[in-house]
Amino acid sequence: MNNKIYLYVHIPFCYKKCPYCAFVSYEKRLSSLALYIKRLIDEIKDFKTSKVVQSIYFGGGTPSTLKIKHIESVLNAVYSNFTVDKNAEITFESNPVSLKIDYLKGLKSLGINRLSIGVQSFMDSKLKILGRLHDSQKAFKAVKNAQDTGFNNISIDLIYGLNETEKDMEFELKNACSLDVQHISTYMLSIEKGTLFEKLFKSGELTISNDEDTANLYLFISDYLKSAGYKHYEISNFAKGGFESNHNSAYWLGYDYRGFGVSASSFVDGIRFKNTDSLDNYINKKNYVVYEKQLDEIDKIKEAFVLLLRMKDGVEIEHFNKRYNTNIKKLYKNELDKFEKLDMIKEKNGHIFLNGAEAMVVSNAVLSEFI
Ligand code: SF4
Repeated sequence: MNNKIYLYVHIPFCYKKCPYCAFVSYEKRLSSLALYIKRLIDEIKDFKTSKVVQSIYFGGGTPSTLKIKHIESVLNAVYSNFTVDKNAEITFESNPVSLKIDYLKGLKSLGINRLSIGVQSFMDSKLKILGRLHDSQKAFKAVKNAQDTGFNNISIDLIYGLNETEKDMEFELKNACSLDVQHISTYMLSIEKGTLFEKLFKSGELTISNDEDTANLYLFISDYLKSAGYKHYEISNFAKGGFESNHNSAYWLGYDYRGFGVSASSFVDGIRFKNTDSLDNYINKKNYVVYEKQLDEIDKIKEAFVLLLRMKDGVEIEHFNKRYNTNIKKLYKNELDKFEKLDMIKEKNGHIFLNGAEAMVVSNAVLSEFI
């Protein structure tokens, strides 16, 4: 049994709800922040494990709505309750508007060693449609401030799918690469239930790229970033050598992780569980865990197989069979035959993997057949 664990801390507050966002996040609830941190610390202290913490990831929402003293108290609870590896990756997601030098210095003094910055775009017109609070200049400034403060493991997020041309995308990627960040995540815009974008899309006030254009943009992004020295190591993620996200990789590699806070999910010792999406219920400790399931062997195999396929190196057959006491080629004979014939899946040097960016672009359709 693996003695490692990866921690996630969800901060469900945002200054303003973005019209495309379906994450569990609340605007106009910052008055509950202090109470939320108190409950978060209780939850951290209630969880006991002898596993060694490999990563701590503050995600959201917008973690940079927190004051430095809040982050410090959460980290103190983590350090006093668990053994944390001295090389643990500690990531903090942040909004460009928050990354002033003093704040960054505070983060650095707490041992945060990786920043994930929600840049989303370098086109001001697109940032407006996305309802973001920053413009491209603020995004540049935020990354520069972070670099000047000594952060040398920075990821930025980009969104596409808003009818960008290849030229637009080239502009986005050129600017992203000019920042010399270590990691870039690129997300296809999708219309999520319950969002303002869903309403606007249904009424025809918003159009997004069609499937074919999105697929072409995906291939363009992959080629561009690879030739700029980034490894396309996961469907949506690119990193310079050695800067792949340890925390996110743990999800894809099927390691144990524990999420704290509203809506956080966990997977520990074969049990999957999820906290309530309701900020009030979480704060009042009502219906705290809303879902819990012990995965049976076949669930574990399917889930692990599909998650690993998201990674560039895919599934190492012998290691996988040993770890899950199975014969994956026999179990998935029909599906593997089908997708190998379609050139979507390949087997080489003992690995099964999605066959390049062309297969990654239709990964949802391919992966769903294995579930
Ligand atoms: S800042 Fe992030 S989490 Fe908050 S509403 Fe916007 S996209 Fe969602």
